[in-house]
Amino acid sequence: MSASPEGLASVLAPVRHVLLDFDGPVCSVFAGFPAADVARRLTGLLSGPDGPPPGHEESDPLAMLRRIADEREDLVPLADETLARLEMEAVDRAQPTPGARAFLEECQASGRSVWMVSNNATVAIERYLAAHGLDRLVAGQFGRVSGHPESMKPSPQLLSAAMAAAAAKPGDCVFVGDAVRDVEAAHAAGMEAIGYANKPGKGAALTKAGAVAVVTSMDSLARAMANGRT
Ligand SMILES: [Mg+2]
Repeated sequence: MSASPEGLASVLAPVRHVLLDFDGPVCSVFAGFPAADVARRLTGLLSGPDGPPPGHEESDPLAMLRRIADEREDLVPLADETLARLEMEAVDRAQPTPGARAFLEECQASGRSVWMVSNNATVAIERYLAAHGLDRLVAGQFGRVSGHPESMKPSPQLLSAAMAAAAAKPGDCVFVGDAVRDVEAAHAAGMEAIGYANKPGKGAALTKAGAVAVVTSMDSLARAMANGRT
């Protein structure tokens, strides 16, 4: 399913600042270096005399980082830094999301600023954007705060930081993300969320979570942005 063009236009009309999730709407971070392989590498690099780190059975390295934060706080700085290095490797083989570039260009053309808000490491986001020539289209990046996995969505912390940098109010912003936690973080920060349903079943989950609109392609969001520019 997808929001009607009129519905999207009315959601986008008051928006001056677009807060944008990275993994999903911009690229598939772990397309070439699968998340499960990253988690295995992370486990290997963090294993010591006490055995593997908490969460070593997770196939999502960010979920592993959360588990480490819950159970081995002392390991968090090393775990976060190590994962950030692996994410830098991963983005070199990431798959660009169709329509992402067009969406960023239409945001710029319509005078809206774009702020990346992601649970991935800021250094990895910056590396990807620079490699793909997208850095000029993005005002700033707010990846998870290094050593502080609790900053990750569904916490609104990173969205609030982006809003502060933009000197924006929640009503001037919208958050575009592909996960239920993105919608939850947006609502906790006081703004609406547009869901990007890139897989079957996600649309229903994003709608149930309260996304104000759901799109199935970034191209359709780019078109909505372009149509609103008159
Ligand atoms: Mg995502």
